Amino acid sequence: LNEKQFELYYQPILDLASGEIKGMEALIRWNHPQRGRIPPNDFIPLAEETGLIVPIGEWVLRQACSHAARWPDDIMIAVNVSPIQFRSQTLLKTVFSALAAAGIKSSRLELEITETILLQDSEGTLATLHQLRSLGVRIAMDDFGTGYSSLSYFRRFPFDKVKIDRSFIQGLSEGTSALAILRAIARLAESLNITTTVEGVETEEQMAKVRHENIHQVQGYLVSPPRPLEEVDK
Ligand code: C2E
Ligand code: CA
Ligand code: CA
Repeated sequence: LNEKQFELYYQPILDLASGEIKGMEALIRWNHPQRGRIPPNDFIPLAEETGLIVPIGEWVLRQACSHAARWPDDIMIAVNVSPIQFRSQTLLKTVFSALAAAGIKSSRLELEITETILLQDSEGTLATLHQLRSLGVRIAMDDFGTGYSSLSYFRRFPFDKVKIDRSFIQGLSEGTSALAILRAIARLAESLNITTTVEGVETEEQMAKVRHENIHQVQGYLVSPPRPLEEVDK
């Protein structure tokens, strides 16, 4: 963080009905002077273990909001938030201050959380989630379909969005079960008034299948891989 070796990449999220880009997901990269570009899966778990995810996550929020301020007003900014950041008690303040410093509306910010957040200390976590939401921030359930994927999560918190894990997209060509589950999640979300995004769409064939399923948004290499800020600004 001090050496300024972190960088945010952004991956666009496509709205299927309008064919327009609806938002960008911020994805952190570590540009290490000796080791090159280190992907987040290689260092985020360690940052969580050591607690360093708290200052790193704060940096991510501030950067992402200030970058979003340069983009059109209708482009959402999605930021991944670790359960450890929820435990730190400073998240609400950090979010508020990142929005204020960037001067963007809270409704443009979407926080992506995974189910592990609901598996631990759920009273405190739920209270923070509700406070964030009353600030106007949107909350997305990330990687849905992996792990326990309990349906009770949707009763415990009114999520704005569910992101369907890319394993389902990859499974679409392998038989009918991935499609059946995708369809069921899409129907459930529809009746709960939750936006659906599928992750990891890489081929036209996958895109065609997704278009059939009442899914709202698509993210994946087919639309665009994550890109550095300079390319997004262009
Ligand atoms: P995620 O939140 O599920 O992010 C989506 C991951 O899928 C990204 O990997 C993205 O590059 C990749 N991806 C996107 N489209 C495709 C596709 O079509 N095919 C395939 N095979 N992959 C695709 P990335 O950037 O390596 O990030 C991995 C994970 O690291 C993220 O998964 C997220 O859990 C975590 N992460 C990234 N940035 C942050 C951050 O700022 N804070 C925290 N706490 N976690 C982060
Ligand atoms: Ca995510
Ligand atoms: Ca995901």
